[in-house]
Amino acid sequence: MFFDASKPEGNNDSLTSAVSKNGTPKIGQMYLVPARCGVAVKLSARQSIRIENTHGTQVCDFWAFRDPDMQEFLSMAHTRTSLESIFPKIGDILVSNTRQPMLEIVEDTSPGEHDTLMSCCDNNRYKILGCKAYHDNCTDNLRMALLAIQRKAPSIPDPFNLWMNIPVKSDGQTSFEPTISKNGDWIKMKANCDLIAVMSACPQDMNPINGVGCSPTEVSFSVEN
Ligand SMILES: [Zn+2]
Repeated sequence: MFFDASKPEGNNDSLTSAVSKNGTPKIGQMYLVPARCGVAVKLSARQSIRIENTHGTQVCDFWAFRDPDMQEFLSMAHTRTSLESIFPKIGDILVSNTRQPMLEIVEDTSPGEHDTLMSCCDNNRYKILGCKAYHDNCTDNLRMALLAIQRKAPSIPDPFNLWMNIPVKSDGQTSFEPTISKNGDWIKMKANCDLIAVMSACPQDMNPINGVGCSPTEVSFSVEN
């Protein structure tokens, strides 16, 4: 059976939440990533994206694909190798699967707790957690956000998980903990090349990663010159 990486297993408002038909934003305009949904946006080289954690409790899965050749994408494995760290911080350059600079973190008002280790959630993840019906998930949000701007996900890269609190113990043990960011925290990243950024307001409500209330919320973003 041919596996089509771009095809969602279900659907939600990600399909109707595009910033424009081809993903080109109005500069400076604040856009919403609705709770449990994904949105894609085009950035030209040297433009910045500022993503705001409206309520402070929300994890935002973040991907970037080079535009127009989306086979090159932001890679967490290559970024960890390049940085010799699993926790990117202000001034760090995030790189692609061909080790090219893609984005630089230029501002971050949060404590800097962002995850580079965990895969994005998908429908199988929720099945394993005990969910019987289809569950909104970041993988499908990525697929739908790209379809909403007439693009297709060539693959499902591991995301840069903004504000996702995954402490790593000295023995390698990890755990899923509530965010430690506060409402209104933002991170700003500057593009090194033309790219398509995709954000998913993670719909995880079966562990406290989106706050102890397990209640996913929206995030917002803007693109700046
Ligand atoms: Zn997720």
